Amino acid sequence: MTKAFLIDLDGTMYRGKNKIAGAKAFIHYLDQANIPYLFVTNNATRSHQEAADFLANYHDIHVSPSKFFSSVDTLVSLLNQENFPKDHQKKVYVFGGDHLKSSIADLGYTFEGSDPENVDTVVVSLDSQVTYKELAFAGLAIQKGASFYLTNPDVQFPSEDGFVPGAGALGNLIADVSASKPIVCGKPQAKIIQGALEQLGISADQAYFLGDNLLTDIQAAKNAHVTSLLIETGVHNRKDCDHLAIYPDYVFADYADLIESQLLVNRV
Ligand SMILES: [Mg+2]
Repeated sequence: MTKAFLIDLDGTMYRGKNKIAGAKAFIHYLDQANIPYLFVTNNATRSHQEAADFLANYHDIHVSPSKFFSSVDTLVSLLNQENFPKDHQKKVYVFGGDHLKSSIADLGYTFEGSDPENVDTVVVSLDSQVTYKELAFAGLAIQKGASFYLTNPDVQFPSEDGFVPGAGALGNLIADVSASKPIVCGKPQAKIIQGALEQLGISADQAYFLGDNLLTDIQAAKNAHVTSLLIETGVHNRKDCDHLAIYPDYVFADYADLIESQLLVNRV
């Protein structure tokens, strides 16, 4: 019995709008062989429908929105565990896009942007519109006792011109200002992997995690005790393992290498 696959997106399935050779064939292979899989992403800016549309429109990979699990799913389950007195009006301050904001509003939170004292919860995610005044407000709310969540710790991400600040960069700034550490939802935390396993209804020993980043994907797999597979299609390759002292269970140069491997061979 082949294990299920948890699969990273950017750098593993595609590089932005650029295709990665064999990614589409690999998903086709999993579908044909009835091997369960779930895309596990730190990206908090896209809904599952938007993530599925992106894969279909730019990469001709057609999957159901139910095949995605993101840092927002982890955030929602953590916020659901917060205890508030009955009838308390939960107030939140959010950096992030519409998908994140509507997911939080669905939990019964209202948005508070005028008095930091009234904020129960600060959620920091990637927000390209952020201003100094808003950063200051978030820091003040945390100093006045609001809980502090960060969707994903990615400090930078690639743009066409080079690296630009990610959610983690905003999170670090607010953490420094408020002298407070965020509760982190995405990889490399084990929680996002555990949520994905729960959605598939399997245990850690029944899954592989396939990703391109040692610091996030492979470290998350290790933290969650899932067998880790590095594919050299994105950020890191096998030469980075010694330098970062993070060693995946398997390393594959590309999808041809993975499909021919002992993990999958003779399945179809
Ligand atoms: Mg990646």
